[in-house]
Amino acid sequence: MRCPFCRHSDCRVIDSREVEDGQATRRRRSCAACGKRFTTVEEAVLAVVKRSGVTEPFSRDKVVSGVRRACQGRPVDEDALQQLAHRVEEAVRAGGTAELPSHEVGLAILGPLKELDEVAYLRFASVYRSFSSIEDFEKEIADLREAAAGEAAEPRDREARDPVARRTGAGRGEATRE
Ligand SMILES: [Zn+2]
Repeated sequence: MRCPFCRHSDCRVIDSREVEDGQATRRRRSCAACGKRFTTVEEAVLAVVKRSGVTEPFSRDKVVSGVRRACQGRPVDEDALQQLAHRVEEAVRAGGTAELPSHEVGLAILGPLKELDEVAYLRFASVYRSFSSIEDFEKEIADLREAAAGEAAEPRDREARDPVARRTGAGRGEATRE
């Protein structure tokens, strides 16, 4: 690491600590030539693989600018955008891979954005999932309404009814050929 003041290449680490819940290490360094001190931050690079195959480092700023576009005219402030980007980064880093496809970043944005602002969510989802018709919007809106209404009302009992029905019905239709 070169000194940012005099370009000397010999710098000593005088302090090292973990920041951002251990996702990064911050080092305080001292230049052996000019004696000035500076700080470096080291973190594991998370690569995002774009559809074209090109990889680029994950960037919280890119998440923010993508979501900001969807939030135009909506009551979402800069702070909320930063928080959302932070949650997205935590989610994708928690996946534990060093490389992930860009659509997974988009996927990680959808959840927190839905909580933040439903209109912005619809806009973002329409691009991300390439909605092609009004029906796509209608379905998504119906899902949003259902989620809002069903949150308190009904517990999910999908598993309870399905396997039983299938087991008792099995073999009925296919057994007879004679
Ligand atoms: Zn120096």
